[in-house]
Amino acid sequence: MVLADLGRRINGAISDITKSDVVDENAINLMLKEICNALLEADVNFRLVAKLRERIKTQISSQENITGGNKKRLIQKTVFDELVALVDCQTEAYKPKKHQTNVIMFVGLQGAGKTTTCTKLATYYQRRGYKTGMVCADTFRAGAFDQLKQNATKAKIPFFGSYTETDPVKVAKSGVDKFRKEKFEIIIVDTSGRHRQEQDLFDEMVQIGNAVNPNQTIMVLDGAIGQAAEAQSKAFKEAADFGSIILTKMDGHAKGGGAISAVAATNTPIVFIGTGEHITDFETFSPKSFISKLLGIGDIQGLMEHVKSLNLDQKDTIKNFQEGKFTLRDFQTQMGNMMKMGPLSKIASMIPGMSNLMSGVSEEDASYKLKRMVFIMDSMTKKELDSNGDIFVDEPARIVRVARGSGTSVTDVELVLLQSKTMSKLAKGSKNMMDMQKQGGGMP
Ligand code: GDP
Repeated sequence: MVLADLGRRINGAISDITKSDVVDENAINLMLKEICNALLEADVNFRLVAKLRERIKTQISSQENITGGNKKRLIQKTVFDELVALVDCQTEAYKPKKHQTNVIMFVGLQGAGKTTTCTKLATYYQRRGYKTGMVCADTFRAGAFDQLKQNATKAKIPFFGSYTETDPVKVAKSGVDKFRKEKFEIIIVDTSGRHRQEQDLFDEMVQIGNAVNPNQTIMVLDGAIGQAAEAQSKAFKEAADFGSIILTKMDGHAKGGGAISAVAATNTPIVFIGTGEHITDFETFSPKSFISKLLGIGDIQGLMEHVKSLNLDQKDTIKNFQEGKFTLRDFQTQMGNMMKMGPLSKIASMIPGMSNLMSGVSEEDASYKLKRMVFIMDSMTKKELDSNGDIFVDEPARIVRVARGSGTSVTDVELVLLQSKTMSKLAKGSKNMMDMQKQGGGMP
């Protein structure tokens, strides 16, 4: 079961109870059973699942006086909050500071995705305006430096390494000293992930750490190992105290849910997740955003952050959305930008309502679908674009004209209008939603 299926199952269970006429203990138990089964199948530890179940039950039964629609909302909010708690370690990670050198050291087993993730993280910071460099301190694996060099060159990130020096501590120190002198703001040090003896690996990590004095040590952990993530992160933590974790290979992996909850149980913050082999397959991790996306509620804050990082012209749309407005023109801007934003299915998952529309479609189909939507909006008049879509209800002939102009069907146009209407409704509630996400979750 991939993560999207987990989200769908949990959502299904919540939506069953919100649709049912009677919300008694029996109905609550049924919902909990389905949620717990889904979590267990996604490899979440049974202790954590049992705890979640108890906490949800206690919270709901402690508010017996709440009934009807309010009770349903209480159930939704409680489930949301407890799922967030399941993946939240309640510890803040180090945040690199501008205008000073931040040394970030990577540790983790070979094959976890360290070198790939180094470049992803370096790109992430470079795009945000940090002067960023990478150092390859893996002298153990032949070809490690070449791999980092290749990735760095492709991403246009300065790098440092050596073909001749065999002491990783010396290479790490030289690289960090060099970049420090050149006033780099982020220096990422990739270390080796394999030794003949485990102890040698841990000793080397400690020595490199002493030499480069990192502000942040990040462990890179393969998310596909599921619950085993807990034991592995604990072992590394005892040997080389790291402050945060990046989970890789979360793309389509059911065990990812297990890994996240297992790591949260070690009180170490997950800062990013890797969701593919490509450099942009990298997302910041925040418990609320993750659960929001998992449940298909969308992640407006994450989307805004992503949009900001791409320097797209979205100011008016964001402002409108925050003010509770959303016109077809906003929808058009959004779609146009979306085409530039890379993996569409990922972006779609951040937009409330879009994940359903795009679920089960391939990247190619998604792109084709979106292009048609853009054609439809490009065929609208100024007046139509600046409206919230009601103009089409009053004058249905407009729908036929737009369909003809865009080479699509009336149904296609109606779908766009329906989608825009949903977004418009969401915009109205967006302030609420963002406040709720800030304050501790809740479902719209
Ligand atoms: P290292 O030995 O820890 O430096 O690992 P590498 O960076 O060489 O990665 C090992 C393999 O995992 C490579 O084939 C990467 O392309 C792949 N990989 C890394 N991160 C991800 C990810 O988030 N998703 C997927 N699907 N593959 C990944």
